[in-house]
Amino acid sequence: MAASRAEKILQTLRETFALPKWAVPRRNPFETLIVTIISQNTAGRNTAKAFENLSKKFRITPEALANAEISQIEKCLNVAGLYRNKSKIIKQISKIIHEKFHDDLKPILSLSFEEARRTLLELPGIGPKTADVVLLFCAEKPTVPVDTHVNRVAKRLGLAPANGNYEMVRESLQSLYDAKDYLVLHVLLIQLGRSYCKSRNPLCKQCAVNMLCPSKQLWDNND
Ligand code: SF4
Repeated sequence: MAASRAEKILQTLRETFALPKWAVPRRNPFETLIVTIISQNTAGRNTAKAFENLSKKFRITPEALANAEISQIEKCLNVAGLYRNKSKIIKQISKIIHEKFHDDLKPILSLSFEEARRTLLELPGIGPKTADVVLLFCAEKPTVPVDTHVNRVAKRLGLAPANGNYEMVRESLQSLYDAKDYLVLHVLLIQLGRSYCKSRNPLCKQCAVNMLCPSKQLWDNND
């Protein structure tokens, strides 16, 4: 795919969407890790509510959450999907970060990208997307987290192979864009997926990048 088409897509998305408040580098990797675990298969509003509940009940530190009663964590998270499993994971990784990494993820994030990613992926319940979110937002490492929106939209736009797995989509996007644009790209593809390129009924006629999208005709009768 021509790099110029990829660039035009990003430029058009920049002109179409205002960046949300969360589209900025973050200083607290542990909080980011916890929010990202909560957000799995969960709408943004419920993620925010669950995190707010947790923050009201506990200090969001590895030590505090390692020592928390699992039933109390569950109570805070019960507005989120799969909250029992997530509560268990949060307690487990908090214990590991507290005991093995002395409550501090920053030394991990100062490793090379590959080493830092490998170390995060060794934590229970941490998959590539969660690791990549922490690495990109908290350490400005060169990676594009592929959530459900990024995966769908990148494939429809022909920015990634239609049958590509997580790594193939991530590598394809990274090959098309400069590392300095990865964070904004990740955020804007999510914005496009939430607003227009919806899973079932994409709104292609209203979509700002429809002239650049090879999938537009597939959905032409939708809207
Ligand atoms: S034109 Fe349609 S399929 Fe293509 S990105 Fe826009 S909403 Fe998605």
